Amino acid sequence: MSSTSSEHSYGLFIGGKDTPGTAGDRQDVLDPATNRAIGSIAVASADDARHAIESAQHGFESSDWAGGDGAQRTKVLQRIARKLEERLDEFARLETLNMGKTLKESRGDMGFVVRTLDYVSGLADKIEGETIPVPGARLDYTLREPLGVTVHIAPWNYPLLLAVRSVAPALAAGNAVVLKPASLTPLTALAFAKLAHEAGLPEGILNVVVGSGGRIGESLIADPRTASVAFTGSGDVGRRIAELAAQRFIPATLELGGKGPVLVFPDADLDRAARGIAFGIFGNAGQMCWAGSRLLVHASISEALVNRVATIAKGLKLGPGSSDGVDMGPLVSPGQLASVLSFVEESGAEGGRIVCGGSRVTSAPLGDGNFLAPTVVADLPSGAHILRDEVFGPVLAVTTFDDTEQGIRAANDTRYGLFASLWTRDLATALATARRLQAGMVSINEAPVTFPQAPFGGYKESGLGFEQGTDAILQFTRRKNVVVNLSQPKPAKTS
Ligand code: NAD
Repeated sequence: MSSTSSEHSYGLFIGGKDTPGTAGDRQDVLDPATNRAIGSIAVASADDARHAIESAQHGFESSDWAGGDGAQRTKVLQRIARKLEERLDEFARLETLNMGKTLKESRGDMGFVVRTLDYVSGLADKIEGETIPVPGARLDYTLREPLGVTVHIAPWNYPLLLAVRSVAPALAAGNAVVLKPASLTPLTALAFAKLAHEAGLPEGILNVVVGSGGRIGESLIADPRTASVAFTGSGDVGRRIAELAAQRFIPATLELGGKGPVLVFPDADLDRAARGIAFGIFGNAGQMCWAGSRLLVHASISEALVNRVATIAKGLKLGPGSSDGVDMGPLVSPGQLASVLSFVEESGAEGGRIVCGGSRVTSAPLGDGNFLAPTVVADLPSGAHILRDEVFGPVLAVTTFDDTEQGIRAANDTRYGLFASLWTRDLATALATARRLQAGMVSINEAPVTFPQAPFGGYKESGLGFEQGTDAILQFTRRKNVVVNLSQPKPAKTS
């Protein structure tokens, strides 16, 4: 590993300041395109996690962030959005350097973050209660209060976007936040916290600690001052987080994995479908919870469609995300590459046919990075491992169906239920199928796409609770019912 660059050197962000961790531990951060160090970060100890919670608690109690006028929060969130917009290219470059995705993808992510901040800023002064008719001379009303200290644990595939997706509504609702980004990709979260404070966020209202999920993540959730946890990541860790949250009776939102089916009917526009399918599995190098990773295509058009997708895959230019004209960057780490490759190898042993890709790029100049050629595996038997579990890489697993019932059954034959898509020109088929797909999000004639105002979440083992949309902000509030007795004292009897 080469020496680290001080340009991307960060401490923890606690109490509005960049602080070295108490134990003095540091960790290199790598560029997935070369596996060389690009900077270093402070690694939090359990004491640092406690300090971050303390700082959030103090910020919550001492600033007027929670109790003040929601319109003030609107202003600050909008200032953060404008500052990020001004520095969008710089943040996009940092994201690409750290995570590997193409600059075009990172710019898209940063645009989504700006849009999220703008969207929730508009909700900050619209958190309202209700008045409820009750018997007698009484007034019954509800208040919506912020929860207090909210913990947010984020994955590495959309580092800043997925962090801000839950942090922004928590802030808009008046909470104080402790964010733990993934250790592989912490740079934009740390830079964002600094930017947010420069934009006027009070000290202690957004804290960022980086460290092992098992130690730091769990100690954040176990802290008695933590009022809720918003988690995005894998199902195994999600299950553990649900247990920890249940032990403390605190709410948890869980945004977990997926195994998105893409159903293609015989009347679909195949060129359009092929482009959408390729985008849905090779975008972000396939490291997407809602990748369309299982292609279920009607047998009559299978060869024509698979050939089209394979042609697109072979034409994709691989390279460092920051290079011009690159369509697909590397996988995030050597470990992720090895895991994806093991799925591909196993699929061959299970009878799958590698239509294209299937191997790591070993030639210069990409040989030191985690590059995998975009891969299509066809002719898979229905129980194949690659059709069941989340691969999280640029690998499309293809299987066929002969009639609609069989196709829908195959689409739903998974423990996941995050995203599904379908391609057909027939409106009745489209709408009837969309109803029957067991997924939190369905796209019709559309690659995976979402907006801050549209709910994002999954059925089955893909999670619990939805993010985005107007509900997102309410999840970071609790209701209080207040009843007032309005009856007048009876006049004293005069004898
Ligand atoms: P991961 O579960 O390994 O890690 C996610 C985060 O949890 C990291 O910050 C990690 O440090 C932390 N963590 C790990 N163990 C922990 C513990 N015991 N307690 C508390 N925190 C802990 O996931 P990943 O590899 O970073 O991300 C990939 C996964 O995320 C995939 O399964 C993907 O589908 C899922 N994902 C889901 C969505 C969604 O919105 N549904 C979005 C993106 C990614």
